[in-house]
This record gives sequence, structure tokens and C-alpha cells, in this order.
Amino acid sequence: MNDVAAPAPRALYEKAETLQEIQTNLGDIQARIQAACTRVGRNQSEVRLLPVSKTVDEARIRMAYQAGCRLLGENKVQEAYGKWETLSDLGDLQWAIIGHLQTNKAKFVARFAHEFQALDNLRVAEALDRHLQAEGRSLDVFVQVNTSHEDSKFGLQPADVLAFAKALPGYGALRVRGLMTLALFATDQAQVRPCFVRLRELRDMLRQDAPQGAAFAELSMGMSGDFEWAIEEGATTVRVGQAIFGSRKLPDSYYWPEGHKA
Ligand SMILES: *Cc1c(COP(=O)(O)O)cnc(C)c1O
Repeated sequence: MNDVAAPAPRALYEKAETLQEIQTNLGDIQARIQAACTRVGRNQSEVRLLPVSKTVDEARIRMAYQAGCRLLGENKVQEAYGKWETLSDLGDLQWAIIGHLQTNKAKFVARFAHEFQALDNLRVAEALDRHLQAEGRSLDVFVQVNTSHEDSKFGLQPADVLAFAKALPGYGALRVRGLMTLALFATDQAQVRPCFVRLRELRDMLRQDAPQGAAFAELSMGMSGDFEWAIEEGATTVRVGQAIFGSRKLPDSYYWPEGHKA
């Protein structure tokens, strides 16, 4: 065995099964967000925690709601749409789609989602806009960028982001909020941080050069294993699932089918 090629070890998170366990985990994460902000002189109010509820069942989602969560992230549209229907009695619970979207599913996202964080092609932008106009709705969007140089992953190449941003004002129902990325899956921060730095530099470039520059305010980056580094590099939204709800049984390859092998 060659140690150099060994995959990074995965952290294990205990399953949170009660309201109290979910509350405790949320509290711990907020404390870690606060500490990361303090280390780099940021204000905690600049960082939004987006709890990610994929694979989490209805009962535990209701606990998260009771614990104060009002926006949840889901990777897959069908799963999110089903939960939205089942939990429709929670009128102020909003949904963020954070995974790749096929054009033929845009109509579902247009119907119920509050934000979409994985915009990386204009066909999807066009389909979303058309369905949103029909629904009389608008949608917050983040442009997903591939910052880890893995060809197989979703997201725009950094070099293509400015041209993409210049095309977006044509889609009036999409409200651009910022950029989103998945960093390299690694435990070595020397490998992970450059992904976050890259996204921040792109955001700063767009603020100057894109027609709707000021709209590119947000950086959605950081997950259970790396959110503190992301905050230190400027994250304004961190997407955290397992550290709140517990380790998932499904492998991440189910969510990132073409790559991102951890
Ligand atoms: C699942 C997921 C997350 C959260 O990952 P955890 O390891 O559960 O914190 C973040 N972003 C995306 C796009 C995801 O699909």
C-alpha cells in the first residue's frame, strides 16, 4: 500500500434522533462558526448556516424545524419536492436545492424552491426562468464553480464564469446571489483552502467586472468537514448536513455521480 494515494479518512457523526440532540448539534456548530469568525475578525452575522437534510426523514426534519430551522438544503429535486409536499403544513419552511439540476426537472424547482445553488449552464437558467415566469415566482441563484480541477465534477470552470455572469441578466426571474463550490475532499487544509480562495477571488472579480456585479455578494462554501476553513476564507453560507443529523448511509457517489470520490 502506498500511503500517498490513500483516500482521506471520513469523519463519523453520531445519528441525532431527538430534538435535544439536533439542538445540541446546531448549537455546537453555531459556536464553531462564531469561533472561526472571531479568528479572522469577521462578524458571525455574516455567515448563514444552511442545514442540509438529504436522507433525513420527516420526523427528524420536524425536529429541526422545532429547533428553529426555516431553510433546508437538499441535493436531489425529487427528494426535496416530496418533502415539500409532505411538510406543507410548516408554511414558513423554505427549501434550497444545492445539487445538479437536469433541465427537465426545472419546472419542479420553479414551483417550490426558494433558492438554487448549482446553476452551471444556460439551458437550465432558461428553463428555470420560463417556468418561474409562468408560476409568477422568482428564485435566488448561486452559480456553481468547479474550483478543485476535477474534470468530472459539476460546476463551471473558473475561466468561464465571467461570460456566464454576463448572460444571466437576460433571465429576469433569477436573482443572482453569489457563487457556490464543493472543495476538494481532503483532510489536508493545504489542499482544501485553495478551492475556497479561488471562489473568493472569482467573486471579487465579478463584483468589478460583471454587469450585475454587486449581486455577487455571497460565497456558499464549506460542509461538515471543512466549514471552519471556508469561513476563514470568506464563506457567507455554509452547507452542513452530517454534523447536524449524523453520518449518511448512502455514499456521496450517489449525490456526486461523476466524481468527488471521498
Ligand atoms: C450533502 C451536501 C452538503 C453537506 O454535506 P455534509 O457532509 O452532510 O455536511 C453540502 N453541499 C452539497 C452540494 C451537498 O450535496
